[in-house]
Amino acid sequence: MRSVYDLSLSDLQDYLKENELKPFHAKQIFRWLYDKRISSFSQMSDISKKMIDQLEKDLEIKLPEIAEKQVSKDGTKKFLFRFSDGSLVESVLMVFDYGFSACLSSQVGCNMGCSFCASGLLKKQRDLTAGEIVSQALMIQKELDLDEQRLGNIVVMGTGEPFDNYDNVMKAMSILNDPFGLQIGARHISISTCGVVPSINRFAKEDLQYNLAISLHAPNDELRSKLMPINKAYPLNELFKALRDYSSVNNRRLTFEYLLLKGVNDSPTEAKQIKDLLKGMNAYINLIPYNKVKEKDFETSDEENALRFYDLLKKNGVSVTLRQKRGTDIDAACGQLRANKTEH
Ligand code: SAH
Repeated sequence: MRSVYDLSLSDLQDYLKENELKPFHAKQIFRWLYDKRISSFSQMSDISKKMIDQLEKDLEIKLPEIAEKQVSKDGTKKFLFRFSDGSLVESVLMVFDYGFSACLSSQVGCNMGCSFCASGLLKKQRDLTAGEIVSQALMIQKELDLDEQRLGNIVVMGTGEPFDNYDNVMKAMSILNDPFGLQIGARHISISTCGVVPSINRFAKEDLQYNLAISLHAPNDELRSKLMPINKAYPLNELFKALRDYSSVNNRRLTFEYLLLKGVNDSPTEAKQIKDLLKGMNAYINLIPYNKVKEKDFETSDEENALRFYDLLKKNGVSVTLRQKRGTDIDAACGQLRANKTEH
């Protein structure tokens, strides 16, 4: 049966119309689902019995089970969710000084094959539906409900490539952003891509206020193609053309993510190349310590070297931040919890 979380507000209005019910009830139903966070249609006390019967016949309030939950000393909580077909997906709740943030997965596994990443250890089994993406955020909000806290930020940086599941991710974000949905502000939503150029071009046309983050990780084609196979399909000149086009129509500042891989991409040569690449762009680069993946040979840069790299970029006029490690005492590196629970 179809999950009600797959429906945007306008889908729900259409559904009601098709069933000769009044479409204005869609907003009411959305409030019950996303504000009151009910677990059964029969809890909607101001909705007619007739409408509830119809909804129960066609739609399901479908949330995943919690297969595992890990809690880090710094407050990070990692969830392994199990959907009804048995698929396992990771989501992470992070605590920042600006509020709570949920890191959501977009696919079951990933086909991008980045050489350092644990998610790619398990090939993509399928895309997640919009409802499954929405339900990860809802589950995390339900966890926060226990402390009367509110989820304020979403990053689509879990397992999967969101721009390889474009329609479902965009629909999910519109539901989460909806004033009758979870009401996550568009500027508090970030989507991270390894650089799927056709989807970046599509995104540029949408006039949305979500933040766009690009996993850069290497500032030249030779190294980037070694680390990230996507670079062979869309090399840096094509990627940056798409990003400049995006920036020319959208005022949002771009984020570049850059993993600090010891002896691989953390020398002054790469710092200089980053400076040249980002010149004149409304962008900043976020240096990210690498979380060790036991199946991979990569190590994170030494702290001293990371700081030197950071300083060099800063001195060269690049907007740069150095991310703190989070949840390292649990299986917090992308895809690790799931990989550890699944045979591969
Ligand atoms: N496919 C998208 C989003 C998911 S990955 C993308 O590539 O952007 C989210 C981020 O985590 C990416 O920047 C990815 O390169 C990074 N990442 C992957 N493995 C990591 C690890 N072991 N430690 C830290 N970051 C990692």
